[in-house]
Amino acid sequence: MKIGLAMFITIVLGLSTDAAAQAPPANRAPTSGTLRQIIPGHYVYTQDNAGRLFNSGVVAAGDGVLVFDALDSEALARSEREAIAGVIKQPIRYLVSSVFHDPFSKGNLAYGDVFKIGHENYRAGLLDQMQRGQLSDQEQRTRLPNVTFRDRMTFYLGDKEIQVLYFGAAHTKGDSILFVPQDRIVYMSEVFFNDEFPNIAGGYGVSWIRVLDAVRALDADVFVPGHGSIPDDPKQTRAALDRMRQLLVDVRDRIQAEIARGATEDQTVATVTLQQYEKMPQFAGTREAVVRRIYKELKGTLP
Ligand SMILES: [Zn+2]
Repeated sequence: MKIGLAMFITIVLGLSTDAAAQAPPANRAPTSGTLRQIIPGHYVYTQDNAGRLFNSGVVAAGDGVLVFDALDSEALARSEREAIAGVIKQPIRYLVSSVFHDPFSKGNLAYGDVFKIGHENYRAGLLDQMQRGQLSDQEQRTRLPNVTFRDRMTFYLGDKEIQVLYFGAAHTKGDSILFVPQDRIVYMSEVFFNDEFPNIAGGYGVSWIRVLDAVRALDADVFVPGHGSIPDDPKQTRAALDRMRQLLVDVRDRIQAEIARGATEDQTVATVTLQQYEKMPQFAGTREAVVRRIYKELKGTLP
């Protein structure tokens, strides 16, 4: 059984490598990814979009599957469902969504038959985004959650206790953290950018540090990022999470020092260059927006 599973995953990986070799048309996101088991009963489905990795979590709990984040299109989400059907062979019972951003929620369209869960601010953010995009009523209904929560939610699937937690604003105001205590694993969506400069353009970098501290205090060994790779030894993700926290602390402290000196937002953008992070993917296109956002957060002028 185990050998069969490993072989199947190897075949899936092999296929997708071949597919990747035929360069996809520019600015068209891939509609399939790869499913990988990281610890028994826990998988990650990863879309490689021009080198940027987008991860969806998959929990297999004996008599049903939970998917965490549907990724960025109906076609991609259907590919994920096919991979789950082929490898895990259990029905998908729940979709838990963390951030409302399209790259993680457009795939909800493939989950019309599945019970959907998200934070109440996730629902509000998703609804606002879809209304502004003038999406059809049917698309809006299909993507929205069936149930929301405010602080935490605990439910039971097969042999597993599943905790859906909210620790405050981070990448958005409604990011859910999924924790499976018995397996000591946490799924973090875009609350965790692994080895990639975090996108805080619409987020809350100072509050984010507190959220990461709450996550690090969980009794867990494996922390699954929404972006970036997962090491062969998944327990190394704890050190990676610590590195991301340190990055946020460094950025916050630099900006705080400028504010203490009386610097304006523009002056702070000019002086807080964060050169120690300039080699990280996404840095160049993100730094200025991150500095401006955290400057406003520290000044208390964020809406
Ligand atoms: Zn996002």
